[in-house]
Amino acid sequence: MPESTPITVAHGDGIGPEIMAATLHILQSAGARLDIETIEIGEKVYLAGNSAGMAPETWDSLRRTKVFLKAPITTPQGGGYKSLNVTVRKTLGLYANVRPCVSYHPFVRTKHPVMDVVIVRENEEDLYAGIEHRQTDQVYQCLKLISRPGCEKIVRYAFEYARRNNRKKVTCFTKDNIMKLTDGLFHKIFDEIAAEYTDIENEHWIVDIGAAKMADTPEAFDVIVMPNLYGDILSDVAAQIAGSVGLAGSANIGETCTMFEAIHGSAPRRAGQNVANPSGLLHGAILMLVHIGQSDVAEKVHNAWLRTIEDGVHTYDIFKDGVSREKVGTKEFAEAVVARLGQGPETLKAVKYGREDAGDLQTSASQTSARAVAKKETVGVDVFLHWNGGTPDNLGEKLKATSGDGLKLVMISNRGLEVWPGGVPETFCTDHWRCRFISEAGNRPVTHKQIIALLGRVGDAGFDFIKTENLCTFDGQPGFSLGKGQ
Ligand code: NAD
Repeated sequence: MPESTPITVAHGDGIGPEIMAATLHILQSAGARLDIETIEIGEKVYLAGNSAGMAPETWDSLRRTKVFLKAPITTPQGGGYKSLNVTVRKTLGLYANVRPCVSYHPFVRTKHPVMDVVIVRENEEDLYAGIEHRQTDQVYQCLKLISRPGCEKIVRYAFEYARRNNRKKVTCFTKDNIMKLTDGLFHKIFDEIAAEYTDIENEHWIVDIGAAKMADTPEAFDVIVMPNLYGDILSDVAAQIAGSVGLAGSANIGETCTMFEAIHGSAPRRAGQNVANPSGLLHGAILMLVHIGQSDVAEKVHNAWLRTIEDGVHTYDIFKDGVSREKVGTKEFAEAVVARLGQGPETLKAVKYGREDAGDLQTSASQTSARAVAKKETVGVDVFLHWNGGTPDNLGEKLKATSGDGLKLVMISNRGLEVWPGGVPETFCTDHWRCRFISEAGNRPVTHKQIIALLGRVGDAGFDFIKTENLCTFDGQPGFSLGKGQ
């Protein structure tokens, strides 16, 4: 008898306990070899005064088992409560979020009968770093952070996933026509890594038209890899157009730890009524079984579930007169799946999972390239001001006087548009100004001392500076977006 795998389970809030009980009942009936540790997270823990929704000791269990099956939780209304999901993902380094979105035509209503798309979403970076500041009366900022190791890990994960799951193509979505440095890096690394996987087709789409194409013709895609925000939004779109967000599960994969869940929330209004569909969480659990090397059980559960759906045994959320045969509650749905263990679908395609332990996909994808450190030189500084004293020309004329000591004011922009020199009066300006000072002697490096002295002069001239961004070159290449004519 193979050994049981220790896993950590949280029953969550709202419909969580009901769908978790149904899921565990199906797994155990199918012979899953699980050694379950239960932890309490979510609403009760938040309301007991823990702003992260998790008691410190729950981390011990997660670090010990490294496998977390999590039911949805309720984040209490009001400020001060941190997103538990974001905390778990970041603390445990769960860099990849994998969401298979499949349609079950003609048994679940969908406009896309042959959809089978896997969204691989970067899970730790991008605008989700949560670094936000209010800088002026009018302007707020959120930092978008994209790193080379972060991109390498997620893109390699997408290609490794594709190869191991017999997928033919990996598509990348970015907005690098606008965000040339951040999304540009993601796209560049996609091209670099794609070249190593000659057996898999690759392509890149700008996210807006790519998203439109995905919503219209999802069968044109196979695996799609994206930065965090686009992936968050588009994985919900993909799940919804496949049939229902209530059906999809997701895997959150890190170098050592993993978390598996449904993509929907705790649906508090449906709680305690035995009506919720446990399929999303069950799909998360199936991904978990594959991950821990119990592909045989995963296959058995998944095929029994497909047969249940085919037989028209449906919970209220996917029930349709004329298509469905029996409207059932959470418990009855689970019993229907259990009764079909050992059977498979007759119309839908039966699933077949590889026998190898998917766990090593984590480690092979986590290798990032060691790169030489670039030669970095500071060639100027952007000084951001909170100012509402007049026109861009007024600001330029006044601020020009702070040039000197090797740094010269060359450009002022407002919300990214250059307004000095040479702006036009029609441009709407806020109270947030970026003022670019460049080394007077061409590209001769600027020292920290020169920048500090400049800030001293800017402050003495009565300006309120909010922040600075150093302008650096890396091996001679500018590490900043250029202004007109620069
Ligand atoms: P939700 O996904 O919980 O529910 C939206 C609606 O979808 C529900 O009213 C219900 O009609 C339907 N629905 C969702 N899951 C269903 C299921 N399994 N079976 C049948 N119907 C289902 O989204 P929400 O109402 O915006 O959020 C409720 C709570 O869930 C919030 O506190 C939110 O913070 C939390 N949430 C948690 C997670 C998570 O833990 N991963 C994710 C999203 C939202």
